[in-house]
Amino acid sequence: MVAERDQVVGVETSRGRVDTPVVVLVPGAWAGPLLAPLGLDFGLTPHRIQISIFRWPAGFKTRHCVVIDAIHHSWFRPEGGVATLIGVELGVGHADPDSFDEGVDPEFVAICRKALAARLPLFGEATMRGGWAGMIMMSADGRPIIDQIPSVAGLYCMLGDSGTSFKTSPAIGRCLAEWIVDGKARTVDLTPFRSTRFAQGQPWQDEDNYGGERLTISR
Ligand SMILES: Cc1cc2nc3c(=O)[nH]c(=O)nc-3n(C[C@H](O)[C@H](O)[C@H](O)COP(=O)(O)OP(=O)(O)OC[C@H]3O[C@@H](n4cnc5c(N)ncnc54)[C@H](O)[C@@H]3O)c2cc1C
Repeated sequence: MVAERDQVVGVETSRGRVDTPVVVLVPGAWAGPLLAPLGLDFGLTPHRIQISIFRWPAGFKTRHCVVIDAIHHSWFRPEGGVATLIGVELGVGHADPDSFDEGVDPEFVAICRKALAARLPLFGEATMRGGWAGMIMMSADGRPIIDQIPSVAGLYCMLGDSGTSFKTSPAIGRCLAEWIVDGKARTVDLTPFRSTRFAQGQPWQDEDNYGGERLTISR
């Protein structure tokens, strides 16, 4: 990203420079190298997140609903017609987004099977059918930063989504488009997501938090 006198003027790409007065920064876990040259530090930390898949055991035939299990810090959903995909919060997982293991850890598979069997006992002996790991970016309060960065005119961002934005990305995209084109997000008031909330000592606090603080994908 290229800025001059605190104003975005373009981006450098592998196919050359593109001049533009507006840039939307959505770099996921790779935000660090883009923010540092601008002197921006929002306390973001990259995390490695895993999921595991289990084949439905004999006798298990009814497609179950999507479950967020705050007691066992897990979430699971059907994967196709014969398997269930589950993730469990580990509470740790800092990793380098440029060099991380994309496979699922054997210990994590065992943790997932136990959490799944706690709700669906037939899965206690279920066969694992794979899994993977990916990178997410955690913010300091586990909520995204969606903002026009005050110190750099023309720079909009969605940072540190903390592993929640498969489901929220359509709304985030619409709100940012409204902000850029019309000068204000109309669909949702984005003020609670402002980048300055940490410096102001006003991190996000849910009125009705469930399942503990700083959850990632199980929220
Ligand atoms: C295992 C796993 C399970 C998940 N399950 C769920 C779920 O069930 N529900 C849910 O809501 N969320 C889930 N998430 C979280 C979800 O994947 C992320 O929140 C979402 O993908 C974030 O989208 P994003 O576009 O912000 O970032 P990303 O999907 O990480 O995309 C960022 C992109 O920016 C690119 N990029 C970075 N820097 C540059 C640069 N300098 N130049 C060009 N390109 C750049 C990267 O290559 C990448 O393609 C899960 C995540 C993982 C890892």
